Amino acid sequence: MEECTALQLRDGIARGQYKSFEVTERIFERIERREATIGAFISTFKEEALEKAARVDSNIAAGRKVGSLAGVPIAIKDNLATRFGTTTCGSKILANFAAPYDAHVVEKLEAADAVIVGKCNLDEFAMGSSCENSGLQKTVNPWDASRVPGGSSGGSAAALAAGMCYGALGSDTGGSIRLPASFCGVVGLKPTYGRVSRYGLVAYGSSLDQIGPFGRTCADAALLLQAIAGHDERDSTSIGETEAPVPDYLADLDRPIEDLNIGVAREFFEAEGLDPAVERAVREALNIYEGMGARLVPLSLPHMQYAISAYYLIATAEASSNLARYDGVHYGHRTGRPRDYLDVYYASRAEGFGAEVKRRIMLGTYALSAGYYDAYYLKALKVRNLIRQDFQAAFERVDALCCPTSPEPPFKIGQKVDDPLTMYLSDIYTISANLAGIPAISIPCGLADGRLPIGLQIMTPAFTEDRILRIARMFEAATDYHARRPELKL
Ligand code: GLN
Repeated sequence: MEECTALQLRDGIARGQYKSFEVTERIFERIERREATIGAFISTFKEEALEKAARVDSNIAAGRKVGSLAGVPIAIKDNLATRFGTTTCGSKILANFAAPYDAHVVEKLEAADAVIVGKCNLDEFAMGSSCENSGLQKTVNPWDASRVPGGSSGGSAAALAAGMCYGALGSDTGGSIRLPASFCGVVGLKPTYGRVSRYGLVAYGSSLDQIGPFGRTCADAALLLQAIAGHDERDSTSIGETEAPVPDYLADLDRPIEDLNIGVAREFFEAEGLDPAVERAVREALNIYEGMGARLVPLSLPHMQYAISAYYLIATAEASSNLARYDGVHYGHRTGRPRDYLDVYYASRAEGFGAEVKRRIMLGTYALSAGYYDAYYLKALKVRNLIRQDFQAAFERVDALCCPTSPEPPFKIGQKVDDPLTMYLSDIYTISANLAGIPAISIPCGLADGRLPIGLQIMTPAFTEDRILRIARMFEAATDYHARRPELKL
């Protein structure tokens, strides 16, 4: 059962071939063995998970109807609010914060009878690309403990890659699902903005944030997306059922798309810092699609080069506003002179936030300040529109776009911490999809030096997650990169 996918496990549990209780026990044995090295989880819920697993087992034994993830151990990112445990966002300021409600996706997982095993590490408030900005702990890459797992959902991806869960949830504002998926050799899907409710996702850049699944396979990503997608009136940007009904993502997954046109933008191979091993793997992937009858269409996304600049104005502007609520009064860590409320604000924020979060708040506040608003924030919004139009034009000609997820394989821990600009460049391929609001997936497509995962990114028009999954599945069916596992001597 260890090597099962989530889907196989779910079916095995439903048939009575496996017991969720035993599977969950095995997961916790692994967590106990591996966590000391990997550091993927901020908190785990062994007792509650085993209880839930036992309940699922007895419901199945009694022939009662169970949910679509019945008995499957799942991990979630620790910026998703849960009534149980803490919701830390990887920040000292929320280290002891107990949320009074469950995020929509947590309710959905519970309703699907998933077994939530723990909450995973992340860059503080999801700001980062390596997990090194977490204010609480370090997470390493299961493929090579001297390297980062990617960020910001690095804990979720590492937990999955290290076999400490069968699927996971992350959030993606500029690449935070896809980059760690690429670095840890798993599938990671950022859905269309509006596909999954953000209710209970701690806000970073509200016009960009989206929750999505990690799976070992495309089918697992489809299974998880199915469980969490759909309208929720508590998130005003969540799309209505009539405008965009949720399709059955598994129904046609194995049916290849005929006459597939894949767009390959010139800019994809001109990016700064593109590693030759990544370029080789992605070109090889494109050849594989061609071999399956796809047509490669050269085109251009002329404004993609401005994506990082626009993103770091828009995301930070939104963050500066979203993070104003952590004032030592409403939430979390409080310090300062008790009778001096300004001192409480200053001192709580100064102590509670890490350096990168402070940098983002300052950048965003500056971009929004009177006199600079037009020159920075407004201009960034215009660039965002141009990028959106680039994609619209491209999707008139092609069904999908394919490129690397990251310009390089997982890098060394510490390599980029002192150079935020270089760190920001890690998201050069992922950020555009958030600015345009379109879905994007990362799937394993190679191993640099035979041991460091490389990810292939596929992007399609808004609300075509069914298409993106089918295209990704075509590659998966033709290769075995998704089946490779890190060698864990633990
Ligand atoms: N690395 C990007 C950032 O730091 C994206 C993070 C994310 O998607 N949450 O903002």
